[in-house]
Amino acid sequence: MLRDFPGHPARDHDPELRSSIGCTLYGDEVDCHGDSWMFLLWSSDTSPVSTHSPSSRWPICILPASKYAYAGDVNITLQAVTQAITASFNRLSIDGIPVLDLPSLGGRVVARLHFYCMGHRGDWKALVTLFNMKRNYSANQVCWLCHADKGADGDLSMCLTDVSHFANWWGTLHQTMPWETVPSYAGLIGFGISQIVPDLLHVWNLGVSRDLLGSALKLVLSERHVFNGPTLPDRLKQATESLRRFAKQNRYPLRLRKLTRSKLCWKTRKYPMLSSSGYDAYVVGLWLEHELSMHAALYQEICTMLWASNKAISLLYSAGRFLNQGEKDSLGALGDLFLRVYLSMAAQAKQRHKLTFRVRPKLHMLCHIFRSPRMINPSRYSTWMDEDFLKKCGKTLGLTDVRGSHHRLLERWLMSIPHNLQKKLGCLA
Ligand SMILES: [Zn+2]
Repeated sequence: MLRDFPGHPARDHDPELRSSIGCTLYGDEVDCHGDSWMFLLWSSDTSPVSTHSPSSRWPICILPASKYAYAGDVNITLQAVTQAITASFNRLSIDGIPVLDLPSLGGRVVARLHFYCMGHRGDWKALVTLFNMKRNYSANQVCWLCHADKGADGDLSMCLTDVSHFANWWGTLHQTMPWETVPSYAGLIGFGISQIVPDLLHVWNLGVSRDLLGSALKLVLSERHVFNGPTLPDRLKQATESLRRFAKQNRYPLRLRKLTRSKLCWKTRKYPMLSSSGYDAYVVGLWLEHELSMHAALYQEICTMLWASNKAISLLYSAGRFLNQGEKDSLGALGDLFLRVYLSMAAQAKQRHKLTFRVRPKLHMLCHIFRSPRMINPSRYSTWMDEDFLKKCGKTLGLTDVRGSHHRLLERWLMSIPHNLQKKLGCLA
């Protein structure tokens, strides 16, 4: 981790580094009992069971949103809670936790584990709340990492639609903080703004990818080159059959039953978007690339976007914890190609007054994923497992009496830890 943060204080506290453990903090809300519940979790960056959510995600705090108090637009309840978490984490960084030898061998301290928060993940809304971000998707300046904006004031010099690597906003990367009121988490030892990483699941799978697939499918299904049914319902049926066949042949567990007009948000005055889970969007992307490969001459731009994005995203999800220079170069080139073609399709659609290939602030966050100066693989900060854990917690929360449900949930979770760790690691906790 220190490859990304060469001046990190962990180096001072523990020169051998063998007992420093990097951790990531996460926060998001779950709806239950007619309220929203904020879950704050931590996970170890080196967990051997990172793909099993109940063994790798550890709740710190559960808070009903009805208890929130605000000062202006700052959520002071969450700031108070995260201040306590920051103080506690900083104690773990400085004092650490001693590891003792067996009593029969003298019980002396044989090691000391120091924990450092090295990253933050969450969907954009949660990050905006936890970090009091003034620069966010609702404002003209959208990005917490740089000064890119929507050009709403008529000045396009920092506009997020410039996706080249010469864009002016690259010059403002990590230069200023996106808040007016300093958030409590900024007090964590070694904190840096680059530790807040865009979440690939929400930015790509549930974001730009669904815009791309919605627009591409609307275009392809409006014509009769690929699916030749005489009416749109016929072509939607043919496309569904082809998709399901592809998923079955390749053993992708697809949840999407049918491609329909409503699944594609196919309306006159709306941008199309594939309304699906993040995983289904990934499978539909692979299928459409495969399906259009025989019609590449007709759908050149769509084929290029699907090819480049599928390759880039597969690279991220299959690469190790750190990307090597070759992987970074490939990712940058594939990302550039995708973004360039997507923006040109969006510009063409705008010129023709058509609502396709929507440009949202998430498209800008994709630039940071494709061209991050850090070596860490950004997919390590996607929230698949955290969301999975929250879904499980939401179910348990719903089964308990609302008056003490957060206590009950923590008790049940604590009781399940030994079983989960025994199952996953083959040892008794
Ligand atoms: Zn930015």
